[in-house]
Amino acid sequence: MPHHLPTLVEMLEGLISTPSISSVSPEFDQSNRPVIELLGSWLSDLGFSVEILPLASQPHKANLIATRGSGPSGLVLAGHTDTVPYDEGRWQHDPFSLTEDGGRFYGLGTSDMKGFFALVLQAALKFRDTPLAQPLVVLATADEESSMDGAKALVSMGRPQARYAVIGEPTGMVPVNAHKGILMEAIHVIGRSGHSSDPALGRSALEGMHRVVAEILSWRSELQGRHRDPAFKVPMPTLNLGHIHGGDNPNRICAECELHIDLRPLPGMSLEELRRDLRERVTHALVDSELKVEVRSLIDGTEPMHTPLESDLVRACEGLTGHRAEAAAYCTEGPYLNALGMDTVILGPGDIACAHQPDEYMPTANVRPMVGMLEKLIERFCV
Ligand SMILES: [Zn+2]
Repeated sequence: MPHHLPTLVEMLEGLISTPSISSVSPEFDQSNRPVIELLGSWLSDLGFSVEILPLASQPHKANLIATRGSGPSGLVLAGHTDTVPYDEGRWQHDPFSLTEDGGRFYGLGTSDMKGFFALVLQAALKFRDTPLAQPLVVLATADEESSMDGAKALVSMGRPQARYAVIGEPTGMVPVNAHKGILMEAIHVIGRSGHSSDPALGRSALEGMHRVVAEILSWRSELQGRHRDPAFKVPMPTLNLGHIHGGDNPNRICAECELHIDLRPLPGMSLEELRRDLRERVTHALVDSELKVEVRSLIDGTEPMHTPLESDLVRACEGLTGHRAEAAAYCTEGPYLNALGMDTVILGPGDIACAHQPDEYMPTANVRPMVGMLEKLIERFCV
């Protein structure tokens, strides 16, 4: 028996008051299962078939795939169920209870991005009794803010399958069709310590790192010369030298030195190739030095995302919002959905500037227009 489906505001309240922080620090990390189960029960009431898929890497967390209809095309409405941790004491509102105040819904995850699911369910409600010609899929993932394990698990299982996807990250309701990727790598140079009075006693890792840094900077110039994309505010790939540590005392030859870099590739650049090139360049820089060099990844990294402007979904989102599609400076699960074969657009209520901040909110004025856009997208791609 279908029971009473909560109202949109009741759903927002339920989602915000169900904590689902994910963090690489175990003291903050929580399961997303309670949020998944809440969504699962509402989606079954709306006639979706609901699958809850625990992550092999973290069985206490899960992805959810809810499907109505079938066919070769279809639309995925996607989001992550986890939030970042919050700054205790810096919130004026309770992060875990929805507060409506001055035209804003406050709470942790209102705009980034549990709130989006309440809007998706509201839009799906309109089609509860409408037969669908193509599948409508609601996808809710785990761990976007930390390991991206949820998205990775989906790619490895090859699901869900559909032609189009909208991820409701807070874009201020402007469609985003591209973003850069991210890599963080550590370069560790190993020499031998010795008394500073006789250079023959050691092998200076610090002097080796000097060569490595010069090589990396010339590699950066080459990358920036070869790759440009005016759609981005910073139209070239960036490479930042963010951290260096080596040695201990002026009178000792430095035995080890480590450099951490952050690289943001443009669409079209592959993480695997960049990692290979970096390894070759730094190895080459030290080839006659008697120093050893090791390169390791500090994070798994995220590929750049790109959906062609000619895609029907990009066009439809531009039409509905009245905004040209833009390129963003942050990373999302978009490249994983691209890898599953979906044209993907990032489009959602709320502003990225207030995400990951105290007093995160969704403007109440975003709710109706966003639900309206989702209804039109469902109508266009599923009915
Ligand atoms: Zn997010």
